[in-house]
Amino acid sequence: MNAVYDVIVAGLGGIGSAAAYHLAKRGERVLGVDRFHPPHSLGSSHGHTRIFRQAYLEGSSYVPLAQKSCELWKRLERETGKDVFAPVGGLMIGPPDCPIVKSTVLSAERYGLPYQMLTAADTARRFPAYLLQRDEVAVYEEAAGVLFPESCIQAHLTAAVRHGSEIQTRNPVLQWTARNGGVTVHTEKGVYQAERLVLSAGAWNPQLFGFTVPLEVERKVPAWFQPAESPRMFEPGRFPAFVWHCTKELNIYGLPGFNGEGTKVGVHQGGLKGAPDDLPRQASLAEVEELRRLVARRFPLLNQTPVTVDTCLYTNTPDGHFVLGPHPGYQNVFVAGGFSGHGFKFCSILGEIIADLAIESQTDFDIRMFSPTRF
Ligand SMILES: Cc1cc2nc3c(=O)[nH]c(=O)nc-3n(C[C@H](O)[C@H](O)[C@H](O)COP(=O)(O)OP(=O)(O)OC[C@H]3O[C@@H](n4cnc5c(N)ncnc54)[C@H](O)[C@@H]3O)c2cc1C
Repeated sequence: MNAVYDVIVAGLGGIGSAAAYHLAKRGERVLGVDRFHPPHSLGSSHGHTRIFRQAYLEGSSYVPLAQKSCELWKRLERETGKDVFAPVGGLMIGPPDCPIVKSTVLSAERYGLPYQMLTAADTARRFPAYLLQRDEVAVYEEAAGVLFPESCIQAHLTAAVRHGSEIQTRNPVLQWTARNGGVTVHTEKGVYQAERLVLSAGAWNPQLFGFTVPLEVERKVPAWFQPAESPRMFEPGRFPAFVWHCTKELNIYGLPGFNGEGTKVGVHQGGLKGAPDDLPRQASLAEVEELRRLVARRFPLLNQTPVTVDTCLYTNTPDGHFVLGPHPGYQNVFVAGGFSGHGFKFCSILGEIIADLAIESQTDFDIRMFSPTRF
């Protein structure tokens, strides 16, 4: 087969835009296609902000990936002149023996990452918007911060084009076939051939992967709240990003607003499940009410009526780890999905790893826990 492209990337959100960039930068002839026009607000990579942290509560094995990711985000900023990362620090909050605090400390200790353990009083002194219970502590990581997802995607796509990549938006992949040495990708606007294929369609991956992986799409409802008083306390610099253990079953997270949009707060667990095209994109009153209650309890200085409510999709795996590697049926097809509510910070390094796999059939990073066939 005379391939027109070296690699086709199907889905150009957080992960696919990074993959297209790294592949093109390494000299591959890349075609990137997306069903919508990224960055857009129908998938998993919108809503102004994402938490970046290196001391990693989901497992120490993520630390080397987070460290490299940070380096790559900063390089992307230099290369494109776009603001993609703000190192405003991060607080992991809860009782000293809760999983959030314990696992964060464990991974920081294992990799010698700097952190500070703050009591409730220390936290209130340094970051006065945070009113912890007396029995709670905060692990402060100065190197943590906030990524701007729309800007990250825009930067990766712009740089991918600069490196010769062709990008087609509003062009859904309908189906693909593969055989040794080539893939054929059928899209709404045409049929394309390449040597290799990357499937990075986020919440729509289950429809494209072509083998069974237990991915579950869950709709989340983050909201933005303006301060009722003391607005300076909520500004970046005085208000680090946070993850807060509220109960055994419930964590909330949040980030400062950078452009007057307000403080973002969301609940990590729970939400409507279903296929992405079937899930309602309007939040229910009950969902907003739950958030209001949680915010009132933790941040009494915020106005309890949100100024904006959004919906966004997690794509969860049963173990919370990603799905990344060669397709079990075809060595020239690579799958990237199941980012389970914590994948954005890794887009830059995962883009590089996808390029390693697609170009060299191997990577120096340990991605065994992401094996697509582990379930
Ligand atoms: C509310 C919320 C908060 C989060 N907070 C954090 C956080 O603080 N830190 C963090 O690290 N992570 C966080 N995450 C997780 C992170 O945002 C996701 O893991 C990440 O964005 C997933 O990227 P993706 O590329 O897989 O999906 P997307 O960015 O959704 O990209 C998939 C793309 O594929 C395209 N597509 C779909 N079907 C087709 C098709 N048939 N043909 C062509 N293209 C197609 C879509 O249009 C889309 O552009 C959060 C997620 C949510 C929802």
